[in-house]
Amino acid sequence: MKQQGILAVVSGFSGAGKGTLMKALLEKYDNYALSISATTRKPREGEVHGREYFFMSVDEFEALIANDQLIEHAKYVSNYYGTPRSYVEEKMAEGKDVILEIEIQGALKVKEKFPETLLIFVVPPSAEELKKRLIGRGTETMEVIEQRMNRATEEAEAMDAYDYILVNDDLNKAVESLHNLIQSQHMQARCNAELIKTMKEELAAIVG
Ligand code: ADP
Ligand code: 5GP
Repeated sequence: MKQQGILAVVSGFSGAGKGTLMKALLEKYDNYALSISATTRKPREGEVHGREYFFMSVDEFEALIANDQLIEHAKYVSNYYGTPRSYVEEKMAEGKDVILEIEIQGALKVKEKFPETLLIFVVPPSAEELKKRLIGRGTETMEVIEQRMNRATEEAEAMDAYDYILVNDDLNKAVESLHNLIQSQHMQARCNAELIKTMKEELAAIVG
């Protein structure tokens, strides 16, 4: 019997490299499904509706909330972000390991609803490197970068609530660590009820 997929949440400061890590992980391995969030933020250069996000108006977003179509939602630097429910449920049932790349408030809500969720927090090797990456990405004004650095200071307070901290220094090493971490969850006893049952039956049949 195929195991249900693992639900993993990846959070981290803006600019830590979450998007880059996700892209590399999905290119290398095919057992993952990355949830696409809904947001009221405007698309950045190169972002495509339905690929990076479902971009929508505040009214449209609030309709999703009202219809209970989001697993969680949160406000981040004056925009709404939320995780559509149906995709996550379908993919997990298919046996895919589903990754939500979401911020802390959302992550904690998901963990509360589904305690078996694996919470991973991605950090850069240093705060200086974080600022460098945000500037180097070139997608935000200096004002927004300052806001995101301030938000990182607040978010650092919640890092303790996560199950694992992943340092994204060498990208390839970080991808491998992330993959190994998620795959190791499949070995948990609670994920192997069928195997445990079969083993007990086989033992009983031999020992009598
Ligand atoms: P996030 O999704 O966490 O906001 P991004 O994936 O957009 O972060 O990465 C922010 C910037 O840092 C990008 O310009 C990206 O190319 C760069 N970056 C990501 N990972 C690494 C890494 N391991 N080493 C050096 N630069 C990185
Ligand atoms: P960005 O604007 O840089 O794409 O994302 C800003 C923050 O929103 C990031 O920390 C990202 O992980 C988070 N985020 C993206 N989608 C969701 C979501 O569906 N729910 C929540 N709670 N946060 C999200």
